[in-house]
Amino acid sequence: MSLNSEFKALVLDLDAEGKVSASFETLSNDRLPEGDTTIAVEYSSLNYKDGMILNGQGRLVRDYPHVPGVDFVGTVEACDTGAFEVGQKVICTGWRVGEVHWGGFSTRARVKSKWLVPLPDALSARQSMAIGTAGLTAMLALMALEEHGLTPGSEGEVLVTGAAGGVGSVAVALLAALGYRVAAGTGRESTHAYLTDLGATTIVSREELEQAPRGPLGKERWSAAIDSVGGPILANLLAALNYGGSCAAVGLAASPKLEATVLPFLLRGVNLLGIDSVNAPKARRVQAWHRLAGELPKDKLDAITHVRGLSEAVQLGGEILKGQIQGRTVIDVNA
Ligand code: NDP
Repeated sequence: MSLNSEFKALVLDLDAEGKVSASFETLSNDRLPEGDTTIAVEYSSLNYKDGMILNGQGRLVRDYPHVPGVDFVGTVEACDTGAFEVGQKVICTGWRVGEVHWGGFSTRARVKSKWLVPLPDALSARQSMAIGTAGLTAMLALMALEEHGLTPGSEGEVLVTGAAGGVGSVAVALLAALGYRVAAGTGRESTHAYLTDLGATTIVSREELEQAPRGPLGKERWSAAIDSVGGPILANLLAALNYGGSCAAVGLAASPKLEATVLPFLLRGVNLLGIDSVNAPKARRVQAWHRLAGELPKDKLDAITHVRGLSEAVQLGGEILKGQIQGRTVIDVNA
């Protein structure tokens, strides 16, 4: 297949004061990074890490100019390894794409074929990015909890923190669809009806979750938890897990700090499970995508999805860092 000689991308660079600035550029194909597979990108998605990168936080990007976008879906235009056919739809998440390697806020991307997974038949390209890195992470968290004994019959509710955000929304919808009773922890009163519609059985306020227990351990309350906020909320929920319960720690939207005691581990046998979607082995990703395609209800997925144009990405990156984004935002790179 002969490729257009140019592509369009959102390009980040550093200004004279070392601040990150963004511009839309038309680039020739010789600017594409190294890789064996070239993809015509259709959609990317907005993730918390994109917000950090667009705002120069966390020193995630080493070299500028840089094209952000930590995930994307598109059509293979060329594949030197033969792993994918020209015309095949593929998904890319992780492997530090959009951080160290140019990412999906672009109409064309070039990556290693081993970073790609086939788009499952049951998902459209748009739906795959409505799931995106955040949704994949929610599924990886659920898989880890199940491997540590969680079943829909486990006593008590599963707590999801940061519930109205990207990871949280997919987690609530997924758990509810599989028959779990879900407590959604949120700081936004305006999201209560949204979370109930996704299947949450209980809404818990952020203030309540921030209240430390009186002693080193609280009352046993949660069968398990998926936590995307960290900080005091993570420490407190560990002290309120049922005996032998697990928390899948996913993110740090409140804080990277963990000021917990060892007592929940010593006296209740709880487990703290780290979830890393960036380096998750390919076989596990393929399994997670397969499950997402089959088990996440499409009506719920559509209910959490907003589609926006690439020109809005910078503004949206600021909003996600402020906790103002609800659900999942798909970026249509051709809009
Ligand atoms: P979102 O911004 O969409 O969601 C985060 C949610 O956290 C917000 O919507 C808000 O939920 C809550 N929140 C925000 N600030 C605070 C605060 N100060 N205190 C308490 N709660 C807060 O982000 P994502 O869902 O995309 O990502 C969530 C986290 O997961 C991020 O830290 C991200 O980096 C991480 N992540 C990790 C991955 C991994 O592989 N481990 C992959 C993907 C994401 P509400 O309004 O309901 O209170």
